Amino acid sequence: MYINTKGLILKEARYKEADRIITLFTEKCGKITVSAHGALSKRSKYSASTQSLTYSDFVLDYRKGKYSVKEATVSEYFTGLRTDITKYSLACYFCDAVDVLSIEEASDVSILRIILNALYALSNDLFSQEQIKAAFELKLISAVGFQPDVDSCCVCGAEDPEEPVFLIENGRLCCRKCHTAAMGFSLNIDESVLRAMRFILSSNLKNYISFRISEDNMMLLSRVCESFFLEHTDRRFSTLDYWKSVK
Ligand SMILES: [Zn+2]
Repeated sequence: MYINTKGLILKEARYKEADRIITLFTEKCGKITVSAHGALSKRSKYSASTQSLTYSDFVLDYRKGKYSVKEATVSEYFTGLRTDITKYSLACYFCDAVDVLSIEEASDVSILRIILNALYALSNDLFSQEQIKAAFELKLISAVGFQPDVDSCCVCGAEDPEEPVFLIENGRLCCRKCHTAAMGFSLNIDESVLRAMRFILSSNLKNYISFRISEDNMMLLSRVCESFFLEHTDRRFSTLDYWKSVK
């Protein structure tokens, strides 16, 4: 059976002499593992289109429970990611994050849109890397089921709490005066960080990165989004550590 679908290559590995095994996030089938026979040979037509961080049009051959590449054409190559080690390492972290949080063969186009828009923004320098990363982490983690509730204080119900505190462990918001130590790991935020978080969570998958925030507040937003993301993925990402070492 042949399947026509677009897909983003999250990672690739060499196999045998000239074959590639790719982890592909497709529009139609979600995340799948696909073999690309001869993709590394000099004469291969699929060398570029089966490379990591490439979004391609595929014709996949599905046989006996296995996928292989029949045809592949590059749709978006994200050139800007390939010449800058900081952008490249951050893009690899995004791919690792999607890989870890997605289930094999569960189609979820929203996850694909979230990462494609982040890669596009990163490749084209549309926003700072910190901003793209923070928005991506918060949008992705909420798309996979850990959506924080930042509408109002979870104790007194105030909609715009003075001196707001974000509760990392349970993804809720409260006022400084309502906060207790029993609420666990929490971070003090401020109005502009809260506004940015609300923007990221409520906006559509195309615009979720496009907000304005001062540089100082960006650092705080970055810390909040990363802490929340890592708390709920419950693991370390070597690509994230690497990005931090080169940025
Ligand atoms: Zn309160």
